[in-house]
Amino acid sequence: MKSPFIVANWKMNKTIGEATEYAGRLKGSVSDLLEVHVILAAPFTALWPLAEVIRGSRIALAAQNIHWEDGGPYTGEISALQARDAGCNYVILGHSERRQHFGEGYEQVNKKIQAALRHDLNPIVCLGESLKERESNQTLEVIEEQMEKGLAGISPERFKTVLIAYEPVWAIGTGRPVTPQQAAEAHGFIRRKVRDLFGPLAGSSVRILYGGSVTRENAAVLMGEPEVDGLLVGGASLRFEEFSQIIDRAAQRSAS
Ligand code: PEP
Repeated sequence: MKSPFIVANWKMNKTIGEATEYAGRLKGSVSDLLEVHVILAAPFTALWPLAEVIRGSRIALAAQNIHWEDGGPYTGEISALQARDAGCNYVILGHSERRQHFGEGYEQVNKKIQAALRHDLNPIVCLGESLKERESNQTLEVIEEQMEKGLAGISPERFKTVLIAYEPVWAIGTGRPVTPQQAAEAHGFIRRKVRDLFGPLAGSSVRILYGGSVTRENAAVLMGEPEVDGLLVGGASLRFEEFSQIIDRAAQRSAS
């Protein structure tokens, strides 16, 4: 059984004070959950203060975005190097909110993945279809295209540290998660595609997380699906008690 990854995506929420208070409590509560990887994807402003709080704990930090260049005249942007410097080991890339509100395509996502890998930041690459695409039976086709464009030019050696998050756009922030069967179908397809692109070892070892309306109520059912290696949690991760319970559910699955 692979140890699950539980990622909190705080998006544009939490001041430095709120973030550090939360992380301080979480540090105490996850200290004996050896089998779960807990990652906080915090706003840039809170990363370094959080790095100080979580030092020596089982919690890791993720940036929510990076630019593909290492530095230069890109006002308002943050590089992979800077995210590492602020204490991150992971970065979320290709999130549908960046695609929807900032016009990011998978060609850009690909350059960002390459930049992250150059600086030992493990990318958490988000994929997933819109409601229209699901309703017109294009889900697997869309995922395949996102993978081919987003992961182009990455060697099997480099791919080893990439995580994938299946996040159907229609499930994000809507209170309408996938069914375990829908997760199994999409995750199984992603795994087979990873195998085609990067070989059998990559196919069996890649971590495929699910994201979209995860709550404490549905976490256990989703984690019960063998193809689901972890959860990317948005809204529910803002509430400390709820996120802690989601981590507990994942720990129970990995202990069972
Ligand atoms: C997300 O935005 O990555 C996400 C999973 O959000 P939510 O859990 O709120 O649907």
